[in-house]
Amino acid sequence: MTGIDEVRRILRDLGIDEELMRDDARLRAHLALDSVDLTQIQVELADRYDTRVDLWTGPDYSVRQLAGILDEREPDADADARGEYRDRGWWRQEFLDDLVLGTRVHAGHHAALSDAARTFTRAELDAAVSGCAARLARHGIRSGENVLVQLPNQVRFVVLVLALIRLGARPALALPALREHELDPVLSALAPSALAVPARHQRFDHLRFAERLRGRHPSVRALLVSGPVGPAEGHMDIDRLIEAGHEPPARADRHPSDTALFLLSSGTTGAPKPIARTHEALGHVIRTATAVSGMTPESVFLAVLPVAHGFAFSAPGLLGTLARGGKVVLAQPDEPAAALELIERERVTHCALTPALALRWLTARATYSGHDLSSLQVLQVGGARLDASTAARLADAFDCRIQQVYGMSEGQLNFTRLDDPPEVAFATQGRPSSPGDETLVVDEEGRCVAEGDLGELLVRGPGVITRYHGDASAASFTADGFYRTGDLVRRHPSGNFVVAGRLKDVINRGGEKIPADEMEALVLTHPGVRAAAAVAMPHHVLGEAVCLYVVGADDGAPGLRDIRRHLEDSGLARFKLPERLVEVPALPLTAVGKTDKVRLREDITARLEAEG
Ligand code: AMP
Repeated sequence: MTGIDEVRRILRDLGIDEELMRDDARLRAHLALDSVDLTQIQVELADRYDTRVDLWTGPDYSVRQLAGILDEREPDADADARGEYRDRGWWRQEFLDDLVLGTRVHAGHHAALSDAARTFTRAELDAAVSGCAARLARHGIRSGENVLVQLPNQVRFVVLVLALIRLGARPALALPALREHELDPVLSALAPSALAVPARHQRFDHLRFAERLRGRHPSVRALLVSGPVGPAEGHMDIDRLIEAGHEPPARADRHPSDTALFLLSSGTTGAPKPIARTHEALGHVIRTATAVSGMTPESVFLAVLPVAHGFAFSAPGLLGTLARGGKVVLAQPDEPAAALELIERERVTHCALTPALALRWLTARATYSGHDLSSLQVLQVGGARLDASTAARLADAFDCRIQQVYGMSEGQLNFTRLDDPPEVAFATQGRPSSPGDETLVVDEEGRCVAEGDLGELLVRGPGVITRYHGDASAASFTADGFYRTGDLVRRHPSGNFVVAGRLKDVINRGGEKIPADEMEALVLTHPGVRAAAAVAMPHHVLGEAVCLYVVGADDGAPGLRDIRRHLEDSGLARFKLPERLVEVPALPLTAVGKTDKVRLREDITARLEAEG
């Protein structure tokens, strides 16, 4: 397509009449595009064509001038790699919703999806997705628009997300636990036209929260709400949207290289960053992850981790299970006992856990030993490092394979293999699932370290992004497109990686990542704090928890309760709140004058040991 076709397509998607799209028509003066429309075009150009133009405060471009900018794009630096990914069949001419819902190869009457309230067969799920897509289109949600979906593990999440994808609109998946501090920047980056939320979830009023976000982000026209909604303006009832119904309008201009959805990075520096996942790249991730997980059409996957996160969503998780023709059972993470009951009732074969949740399951298993868990084949554990002794205890208590998963929302996934001997499966974090992944272990100068030595893992491959949406945090990628994981790894003689630590300053609280700099900046807004440093402290269940060192102002430092309240009032997600506060007269410094976090981590470890 030439630039003029591209621009016309974008304008058509914005609802501009064909007759108005004369080549000399100016976007603001003649087409009357407002700030929201202009932002939408900017997002499209940046995302699909890697082209940045200021349409809002810059000159008022004509249709022809904008097309000219697109025609002058630099030749695509990644074009060779993309050609290879397609030639080798890693990227295919397929759309995610078709890959996941295909009833051609898998029987339509098989149960495909259930939560506590309902069950869908594959055919019913497909019909609900089509009906939902058609209704969304009728309510004005358009192809190319972004929709933030912040829903818990319920059937509604799955139907809505797949319907948006079928429509060509792009869901951005947000954990229900995220609050203003995390979501405001995401909304600014994506300018979504709608937010999907539960009215209330876990004692939190999401509807009021969403109303506040809408007040601050004028792109948001509609709220899609599950649960009781008032007659307030712009609310759509998700349960009405997801009934079976007519086919959505066919879209002729969808392409497998389009963004299908956005995941959110766990945020090593402050706010989560949107990660655009194309149909073809995420399709590859799903197919390869499914293959190494031993999934078959008979598999039953229990989703207890939030499905808005990549691990339970597509590694292989929810999407992989459906793509393979299996069944997904959606549940909440907080009740291990209920999960054990579900495994028995639903004959669950696969489940994904963080190490912290796995430890809670171990305790629950000891208490509820009567459940028949013989269907369980694979317990996948990832998101944070699992230690070898816990892995062995899990294998024993659940009498199944333990598969370690080390991956990142940016798209690279490593799995121990189901036929790895126990000493490898328990002590390593796996190797790439994709045959196309290139991995380098490098030192601080970017040189490859000797085999078996420790270094940072860099990754590139058909499932891995080469930039964040809008080119945020460009330093996270090398010039030749490798993603810098920030993880310190070494290669085990088996060829698998062992994750030994990390370079980035993040506290991994049971799989939830908490950037230290974000926390420190917010703590410093408390008038009683002069200096602050957040470090990981060992925790017997979570692995790590947040310990805050503070230097108080003249009247002394605030207490832990006070700081937690302050952070929560600042809109920080609750799972990030610190577990402990230590007041110190000054923060220790390294030779170059940075806060000496190694010493602080040693200090808190020693304190905990002294306390027994
Ligand atoms: P996320 O983007 O939330 O999936 O977080 C990705 C990061 O989590 C990785 O870069 C690692 O730092 C950490 N991580 C994920 N899985 C593991 C694992 N199995 N062992 C150690 N760290 C892990």
